[in-house]
Amino acid sequence: KEHSVHIEQASESELKAQLEALYARYDQLAERKLALDLTRGKPGSAQVSLSDALDGILDGDYRAADGTDVRNYGGLDGLPEARALFGALLGTTLEETLVGGNSSLTLMYQVIDFAMNEGLRGEDTAWALNDRVKFLCPVPGYDRHFSICEYMRIEMIPVRMLDSGPDMDEVERLVQADPSIKGIWCVPRFSNPCGTVYSDDTVERIAKLPQIAGDHFIVMWDNAYAVHTLYPDAPELASISELCRKHDTMDGVFQFGSTSKITFAGAGVAFIGSSERNLSTLKAHLAFQTIGPDKVNQLRHVRFLKDAEGIAAHMERHAALIRPRFEAVLDTLERELAGSGMGEWTAPRGGYFISFDTRPGLAREVVDLAGNIGVKLTPAGATFPYGKDEADRNIRLAPTFPSEADVQASADAFVLCVKLASVKQRLA
Ligand code: PLP
Repeated sequence: KEHSVHIEQASESELKAQLEALYARYDQLAERKLALDLTRGKPGSAQVSLSDALDGILDGDYRAADGTDVRNYGGLDGLPEARALFGALLGTTLEETLVGGNSSLTLMYQVIDFAMNEGLRGEDTAWALNDRVKFLCPVPGYDRHFSICEYMRIEMIPVRMLDSGPDMDEVERLVQADPSIKGIWCVPRFSNPCGTVYSDDTVERIAKLPQIAGDHFIVMWDNAYAVHTLYPDAPELASISELCRKHDTMDGVFQFGSTSKITFAGAGVAFIGSSERNLSTLKAHLAFQTIGPDKVNQLRHVRFLKDAEGIAAHMERHAALIRPRFEAVLDTLERELAGSGMGEWTAPRGGYFISFDTRPGLAREVVDLAGNIGVKLTPAGATFPYGKDEADRNIRLAPTFPSEADVQASADAFVLCVKLASVKQRLA
């Protein structure tokens, strides 16, 4: 067993023997012309099928609770019953909740665009009036957050993720030292890609950030995986809404969520929670873009999901489908790499990803090795601002989309590539 010896302790002759065996297996795999893909953080088709009842659920009854005909224009902040349903998820009141179209990413973009170009507190507060605008980006993180920043010419400052969430000592130091830092990205429960759940203390310190940073600063609280647990004992997340009320900072926090990974990834419902003041300012901006969201889809979601218990029961059905895929990867990593010194990885209790760190300097090589035998992995560096992982270590694994058999085959090929790259590096 190659891994029974820690790679640092293996002798040169042991390493050479291993390398030969690994190459032999690698060549065998290459001959199999695999076409596997672990890059896609999207639900599998059995998962989206769990919500097929959405189709036709209105059965001709297009009236919302207040009598609104949802087929018509209007209702910029969304249907009241949808706002109540998703507000319960965010811990926000009806007035503090806006329900929009199918993508929370769009809502995030719109908030940043508004803060940048029009100003959250009047036009003289537009970030664009400053020479430099910066954002704190906990790393590893979600590449599309980073793309929004890059597109908006917001400079990104990476901050290390700890087991408790972002390194808050560093975050607090930075926001106090540099007023050009205008915000921070957070994925507080089952973060992408680490699967980290922020600790209670971290959530409270983030709720207090707008106080120490100042009026210009916002927290982008992307709770994309708020209810996406894999196990009943998954850690809970403290309510940032409650803590914002305690510290009077609701104006400085924008919460986001969506049903993309609850119902249909491309045809769900997205929502924002923030202070009433922020939402009314934002609505004035949105009014230039739309007369109102798709309320038919909002009503379908309310009828289908019903309430928080309905959502929780539905999420258990997702977990039953994706837990075996996560376990296939994690069991393989554990069996093949534990104690080998060839990598470290997270074992998330929810969310969509496993984060793997190779030995320094090997992420790119592992991704290339896998790619060359038909196993597509997320490009190395994608989890860092500007695609720059200085240590070249992090690889995001996304096991939800492929079949269980394909996940297993991908995991087997992945560990082989990790071992190959590691042994090669030691011999170099
Ligand atoms: N936020 C995070 C952290 C994600 O991982 C994703 C999708 O992978 C999204 C947002 C996208 O959300 P939506 O489909 O609501 O735009």
